[in-house]
Amino acid sequence: MKKLFIDYDKCLSCKKCNVKCSYFLHPENNGITYLREEIAFLFACRRCEDHPCINVCPTSALIREKGINIRSRFLCISCKSCMLACPFGTILPDIIPYIIGKCDLCLGRLKANEIPVCVKTAECDAIKFIEEEEIEKEENIYKIGDSLIVKVYSYINSYGIKK
Ligand code: SF4
Ligand code: SF4
Ligand code: SF4
Repeated sequence: MKKLFIDYDKCLSCKKCNVKCSYFLHPENNGITYLREEIAFLFACRRCEDHPCINVCPTSALIREKGINIRSRFLCISCKSCMLACPFGTILPDIIPYIIGKCDLCLGRLKANEIPVCVKTAECDAIKFIEEEEIEKEENIYKIGDSLIVKVYSYINSYGIKK
């Protein structure tokens, strides 16, 4: 079964993400931004014990759950304070947009041989819809759930940061 693939490090160097998204509950939704935030908190965040990003948040939108930062998209006012407080550049301004975003991985919405709209409209090769075997021999490949594969430099694994 094909899965969504995101090359996070390529995404990071992209200056303008023009992907369209077919998630229908939020207008102007960019599901890739939603996924990039998830990847950033899983693999790029150093999980600081004193977490300045969380301490500075004026709305308590940012919390840590089971060792991982998560942001409430309803509480967040996109003030960017967390971004300024993070010494590692984990939180980029475009991953904390004011407009709520969501990706449901198009689960249950794709017909036979269809590919997600984001993949169809991406003007880069950072987002693909692939069989797992096509990518499994490459370095820095991680699975998130059953339907998402990411290629990302993991600070968590590289520096042995406690999960
Ligand atoms: S997989 Fe579907 S919901 Fe997710 S970003 Fe792509 S088009 Fe949007
Ligand atoms: S951008 Fe959102 S999560 Fe970050 S400090 Fe502001 S309100 Fe909190
Ligand atoms: S300050 Fe940055 S690296 Fe540290 S916990 Fe917050 S987001 Fe992660």
